Amino acid sequence: CKKWTLAKPFIGKVTPDNFKLVKEDIPEKLNDGELLCEAVYLTVDPYMRVGAETGNAVGNTLFGEQIAKVIVSKNAKYPVGSIVRMRAGWRTHTLVKDAEKEISRSAEMGDLPLSLMLGAMGMPGMTAYFGFLELCQPKAGETVVVSGAAGAVGSLVGQIAKIKGCKVIGFAGTEEKCKWIKEELGFDFAYNYKKTDVDTALKEAAPDNSVDCYFDNVGGMFTVKVLTHMKTFGRVSICGSISNYNDTSVPTGPLPFFSILKSQLRVEGFIVLRWYSRWEEGETAMRQWIKEGKIKYKEHVTEGFEKMPDAFMGLFEGRNTGKAIIKM
Ligand code: NDP
Repeated sequence: CKKWTLAKPFIGKVTPDNFKLVKEDIPEKLNDGELLCEAVYLTVDPYMRVGAETGNAVGNTLFGEQIAKVIVSKNAKYPVGSIVRMRAGWRTHTLVKDAEKEISRSAEMGDLPLSLMLGAMGMPGMTAYFGFLELCQPKAGETVVVSGAAGAVGSLVGQIAKIKGCKVIGFAGTEEKCKWIKEELGFDFAYNYKKTDVDTALKEAAPDNSVDCYFDNVGGMFTVKVLTHMKTFGRVSICGSISNYNDTSVPTGPLPFFSILKSQLRVEGFIVLRWYSRWEEGETAMRQWIKEGKIKYKEHVTEGFEKMPDAFMGLFEGRNTGKAIIKM
């Protein structure tokens, strides 16, 4: 059994020496009520980059969700072979002492792939569903801009916006990603932000400051510029700020207050767990849209637990298209 622990605090760019692979013994005998689980799929997500102030302390197991299979059971509710979702962290095997507390409610997957519980039917899917619909309140005919548009969350937001009848403009970091979101996911415009300046792109795709909604995954100067293209009373959902995550100090500017004032924008940040009590509603909608073919998904699968840090570092280099998943 193995686990990945934090060897060095995350400061600046994430590097291989931030991680340490540690061997663990698994107990020979379980007590009543306990389970031994083996990871099947794990996930790497940008939020795992948070610092020590949020519990990411040296020596601790890196945190995160996983889908696991029960391999030894002393709990009738979870017989051997049961599939569970839990926040067990980056580990191959987990001794579950208190199943009621440690195991998350698992989504009803039906014939959908299990790994979607970590993507479109899991936390990233709920982020797209609630973070976009609740904060942007999109209406048919409106113009929506999505940054990080070929990632786990962004690719879903753009498709939800299309379902709601919006014109969708996505920004992503490679030509292939742009081709995917435009040709397969149905975005109306897709720009490689590394090649086309955001002002030039939005003058073309949303002329005369006609952006109604902006779903922001990246922050930084990119977002400062998008806000100058918003329509009066536009809505902005601040989901992520990945362009700042490796900064060693809190960014102090330029800040887009004048754009917010001038266009009377409603700008709101969120942490998806605020809608946790409504998760089932989001899962039901996502499942329906996936089954109807209205939402497509891609997974960037890395095989092998040993490669987990590399897959995590890949998020900050844009190596993934769609959801980054680790397959055991
Ligand atoms: P993604 O699947 O989108 O992976 C990260 C992507 O970010 C990369 O593929 C890369 O794509 C892009 N990226 C990396 N560095 C930069 C940079 N410097 N500038 C611009 N883009 C960059 O991750 P998720 O979909 O899981 O997460 C997207 C965002 O949403 C993150 O910021 C994350 O922290 C946030 N989030 C927030 C939640 C909340 O509750 N508020 C919950 C879940 C996620 P590219 O090639 O296009 O550059």
